[in-house]
Formats: sequence, structure tokens, C-alpha cells
Amino acid sequence: MTIQLHDTLRGKKVPFEPQREGEVTMYLCGPTVYNYAHIGNARPAVVFDLLARVLRRHYKLTFARNITDVDDKINAASLETGKPIEEITARFIKAYNDDMGALGVQPPDIEPRATQHIEVMIAMIEALIDKGFAYEAEGHVLFDVSSYKDYGALSKRDLREMIAGSRVEVAPYKRAPHDFVLWKPSTPELPGWDSPWGRGRPGWHIECSAMAEKHLGDTIDIHAGGQDLVFPHHENEFAQSCCAHDGAPFAHYWLHNGFLSIDQTKMSKSLGNVLLVHNLIETIPGEVIRLALLSAHYRQPLDWSDETIAKARRMLDRLYGAVRGIVVPDEVRAAAVVPQALVDALEDDINTPKALAELFDLARALNKSDDDGEKTSLAAQIYAAGDLMGLLGSDPEEWFAGASDGDLPAEEVEALIAKRNAAKAERDFELADAIREQLSDAGVSIQDGREGTTWRRNG
Ligand code: AMP
Ligand code: ZN
Repeated sequence: MTIQLHDTLRGKKVPFEPQREGEVTMYLCGPTVYNYAHIGNARPAVVFDLLARVLRRHYKLTFARNITDVDDKINAASLETGKPIEEITARFIKAYNDDMGALGVQPPDIEPRATQHIEVMIAMIEALIDKGFAYEAEGHVLFDVSSYKDYGALSKRDLREMIAGSRVEVAPYKRAPHDFVLWKPSTPELPGWDSPWGRGRPGWHIECSAMAEKHLGDTIDIHAGGQDLVFPHHENEFAQSCCAHDGAPFAHYWLHNGFLSIDQTKMSKSLGNVLLVHNLIETIPGEVIRLALLSAHYRQPLDWSDETIAKARRMLDRLYGAVRGIVVPDEVRAAAVVPQALVDALEDDINTPKALAELFDLARALNKSDDDGEKTSLAAQIYAAGDLMGLLGSDPEEWFAGASDGDLPAEEVEALIAKRNAAKAERDFELADAIREQLSDAGVSIQDGREGTTWRRNG
């Protein structure tokens, strides 16, 4: 079966054909490194890691996931904390890779950093000016949206309607409200690089166009990211790259994951409900989080709650329970083939709910079987499927040892913390203190911080 992927530009699922036989290039917009990644940020990392694994079965894949290490949010974090920018970005690049690694995300082939590609960005901006798609004004360079007739094609927006409905204050140096920044001036205390337009720094969108060009060429096969990036980020990348490359398409397939919400609400700093992967993995096995993120189809919204986690944990209990006690010799495991129905599901626009259903069918068959040879073969297939999906990497005995050590289960700890936070919000400090004591008696210490309450088991 051919791989099918949903392309945002065409608005439908289409058969995947790489531009060069046997080879695929894929670019995923990566993190802006000024803080830890939250669970929403982990969704594209995990989903497109799975796609990379599926593609690697057939093709030589070159997968780039960038690091945005020059950005106004990073500058703001540096001002706020008094820490140098390089210290902040180095810390959060490492944290991102460690945290995603804990979720079974394999490192991409290339991890380009924006600050190491300034020359490429400047060259691309110069090309856009030379070709009449960009203009300089007061130390800024702007992309002239009116010069590109296909602007709005990806996000299905009509530029005239956008302008008519626009209420944004137009910066004086812009010719039109939707012209976007390719380069902007920096003050002496901000990071900046010499350029034909004075000392300055790049806009966010040009970073990805330039890094994709440098590492993957003018036209890439797959461009991916979260659905919030369709507009303006990807629309702008699309315009810049096509115009800089004389109309060559930027990407043949545009893939976007749906959004993750928390308890049916949008995750946001102001609501105080931002869940950081860094904190979650202290108490929840990375594999549980990965399975929870893959439990919904990637284009659907995914609501994250205690129940999402508990469900993923139960699913892994069932899978590990099925293979527990079955010795699969190395050579059988090495020769095991992932069942075709499961591969077909993943190759059908990464249909993870279907793939997981296939995995449970195997577990059910294994539980029913009383033939040792068949059991070994089914267990080997389950492990092979797990390898493909980045799951079932633990030893079943270790899995169950970790889950049933007599401690207060993580869900109960989380529930007590939620209850304590609610008590604190209602200024019921007596109850809040009683809950802290109850947790302490159960060997759990908690810490309130800016990002919420974290906890750990003592000793
Ligand atoms: P950012 O660092 O904000 O650019 O986000 C990094 C990646 O996470 C992008 O691909 C975003 O689209 C994605 N993303 C951010 N928030 C969410 C969310 N709540 N659900 C799913 N994806 C998200
Ligand atoms: Zn990007």
C-alpha cells in the first residue's frame, strides 16, 4: 500500500510520492528555547517522530527539526532573569532533547540552530529584495505580500478580505498591514548581526525558510508543525521560499497536528494550567505520555486530563501483561515482522487509534493462545510493533515493579495536589496544610513553584 498523508494545501488525504526515488526530506518547526516544552509542544515532536519511523522503513529520510534560538521571547527571558541569552538557550536546548528523549522521540538527522544560519538568511533576504518581493524601510526589511499572488493559498485566506478586516495598528515603515518582517534592527543590548541593512536580527519566518533551503534544498517533501503554525508562520515561509526560488514549490506535503487542551480548556500561562513535560516525567513514565499523545488521531484535538494518563497507563498494563513471562529468543525477536494491518494503519495518514487497536488484537490473541510457539511469535510481533511505535521498550517485570511498589499511585498524588491547590485558592489553608501532611506521611514531598506544584517521592 502507498503511504497516504493529509496535505493542508490540498485540503485532503493524498498518496505520498517523494520527489526523488527512495529519498525523503522532512522539516519540522522545532522549539523556541526560552522555557521547558509543554505537553502541547510534545505532540508534534512525538507524532512526527512516529511518521519519521514509518518513512524510514521505505526511504532514506533526512529529517530536520530546527531550534529557534533568536527570538524576542528569549530576549525577554534574559532581561527577566538577568541570565545571558546563550545560557538560557543552551539550557533549554538540552532540556528539550532530554525531555523529548524521555518520550521516545529519536533525535532528528539535523538540528539546525537559527543563530548559526544568519548568513543564509541574509542571502535569502537579499535575493527577495533583488527579485522585487521585499523592501527595506527604516532598518527593517519587509516581505511585500502584494507582490506574491498565491499568498493565502495554504491557510485559505483571501488577502483583500484580510486587509479589509484588519484592525491592527500598522507600523509606519510598512507599506501594507500584512507585510511581515524579514529583518529588524537591534539596539546595542539586543543580539544582532551586521547586515546590508545595519546591525539587526532576523524575523522568525525567514529562519525556517533559510534553514530548510540550506539543509534540504529548495523544495522539500514534507513540512510539518502544529496547526497554529499554518498562519502566519507557514504561509509566510511558503511565500518567502517560493519567491526566493523562482516559484519552485517549498513543500509537496504540509502536515499539521491538532491542538492539545487541558481538561477541556486551552493551555495558557494566564490560566496557570501549563503542563511541562519536564515535570510530568518526574512522576509519569515517558512511555505513558507517549502513548497518551498517540491515542488520538494526530489531526484531531486531544484533551489531556488525569483520565487520559490513567487510560494510557492501563493500555500499557494490558500490553505488558500480555507479553509478561514469555521469553522471546533474540533471533525470534530480530526476525519478527510488524503485522501488515498495523503498518497499513500507520501508513494511512498516521492512523494511531487503528494501529493501537491492531496491537490490542495481538495482545488478545496472545492471552487466548495456549500454544507456546504461537505465543512466542505473537509476543515477538507485539515487540516489533512496539519498536516501530516507540513503545514497549521496558522489561515487563520492571514495568510492573515500577507500577505496584505499594506507593500512593501517581493519580492519587495528583488528585490530592489538585485538591490542595483548590483549597489554597479558596484560602482554606487548614485543609491545604492537612493535605500536605497527608502527602508527607505517604512519603511524598511537594514544592510550589512558578509553573505549578511539583512532587517527588522521598528516598
Ligand atoms: P512554539 O515553541 O510555540 O513555536 O511551539 C512548538 C510546536 O508546538 C509548534 O509546532 C506548535 O504548533 C506546537 N504546539 C504549541 N502548542 C500546542 C498545543 N497546545 N497542542 C499541540 N501543539 C502545540
Ligand atoms: Zn518554521
